Amino acid sequence: MGAKLHLAGIESFRIYEKAERIGGTWQANTYPGLSCDVPSRYYSYSFAPNPDWTHLYSPGPEIWAYLDRVARDFQLYDRISLGTEVDEARWVDGQWNVRTQDGQEAAYDFLITGAGGLVHTHKPHIPGLESFAGASFHSAEWDHSVPLAGRRIGVIGTGSTGMQITRALAPVAGRYELYQRTPQWILPVGNRRYSRPTRWLHRRIPALNRLGYKVWQTQIEWVLGRATVRDGFARWLVSSACRRHLNKIKDPELRRRFTPEYKPMCKRLLMGTKFYELFERPNVELIDAGIDHVQARGIVTRDGRLHELDVIVLATGFDAHQFLKPMELIGPDGIRLSELWDGEPFAYRTVALPGFPNVFTLIGPHSPFGNQSLFMISETQMDYALRFIALWRRGAVDAGWPSREATDRYNEELRAAIPNTIWASGCQSWYIGKDGLPHAWPWTPARHRETLAEPQLEEWELVPGSAGAVVTTP
Ligand code: NAP
Repeated sequence: MGAKLHLAGIESFRIYEKAERIGGTWQANTYPGLSCDVPSRYYSYSFAPNPDWTHLYSPGPEIWAYLDRVARDFQLYDRISLGTEVDEARWVDGQWNVRTQDGQEAAYDFLITGAGGLVHTHKPHIPGLESFAGASFHSAEWDHSVPLAGRRIGVIGTGSTGMQITRALAPVAGRYELYQRTPQWILPVGNRRYSRPTRWLHRRIPALNRLGYKVWQTQIEWVLGRATVRDGFARWLVSSACRRHLNKIKDPELRRRFTPEYKPMCKRLLMGTKFYELFERPNVELIDAGIDHVQARGIVTRDGRLHELDVIVLATGFDAHQFLKPMELIGPDGIRLSELWDGEPFAYRTVALPGFPNVFTLIGPHSPFGNQSLFMISETQMDYALRFIALWRRGAVDAGWPSREATDRYNEELRAAIPNTIWASGCQSWYIGKDGLPHAWPWTPARHRETLAEPQLEEWELVPGSAGAVVTTP
């Protein structure tokens, strides 16, 4: 957003970041094997291509280095307050008064949130875990002081994180155990290294980067973008690829234990290869007997077996329904966002909040996050915010927020479309909210772009600016 503001000629902004480094998920997650399963050429800003990606799916540290480079290239570091957590933002006299945990206050005309979705770690209550004598930590809080080579490692959880850790650690551990509660479907997409000549060409011919972005965007949107939200060829294609991949497991008993009882993609799809075959190694075991408790020496499963371990990793995911928490937004008349949401975050078209003037939410509630590029999705939302800010700069509006009626109408339409999605086909996942429904964008990514192509100002409550009620979009 900072780069986009800069490109729009706006320099009067500040970015608050509670961590000591930029990068969000890419600074918090540092686990071995970390990478992104969206192709790097597409998992980038459209306005800042990176010809130097080393892999089709580049490793996490490289993605962090890319974000750092973008922040430097757009001179953003001067505008970022690192290690500064925002407690509260309150609408006072037509501006947002932002208060940080260390007591600083500053006023802004607009407030844009980019606080992420997978932030609050989910640490299940496993009886006795605190009595474990070895090292134990969540995947997003990796303790790099703990040696791993040759040791006995147990990883709990078989999501994208559990799979990536397994691929990195199973070959180096003395003994490696993956604790599976529910099997997952895996789409077999292989990674490959970009050669030096390929990188040289991408540096020399910038159009190649744009082409790569488009090619991957088209593929992902045509296949996964459709497969997840409607029945048809794309869904069949992905499902059969997952089934064929599973059927390659030679041992019928192991195949049975890895076979999910729900449809492919119901839980967020795992992507990658070279996973199942790890369980043919003598030092690697799939444990699906269920965890009973933990004691000083290791994990005791429900069949009474004690698994002696040196390290226990919780790859148990995140609570994805804690948007913006613990920050509080207090709008006009004292309306609090936590009360408006009451544990069920919702937004207007993923990007704005009814009753909260001049607020925009990046990757807000129901954004199309699935297996899409969050760079692209958030850019769509940034452009939407910038169109509104342009109206304000022209003096056409002083403040605006989506009406409650328009927000309710959009959310009703959204809820009506959710049963068509694969996420509602009968499984437990982090998409599911308190109401038992998946909280995700139930249409294609293309529809998200269409929905946010222009601010539909007839759905907004507007305070006219000094130039009068000129409400045509730029
Ligand atoms: P996740 O998909 O939510 O998986 C959590 C795992 O922990 C599940 O297997 C879950 O089992 C298990 N679990 C939770 N509580 C448990 C308990 N009490 N006992 C035993 N097992 C338990 O979390 P994640 O793998 O961290 O991934 C979260 C999301 O992060 C992904 O879906 C993806 O969006 C993102 N991510 C992306 C990438 C990428 O490459 N793009 C990589 C990593 C993560 P159940 O299935 O039975 O609940």
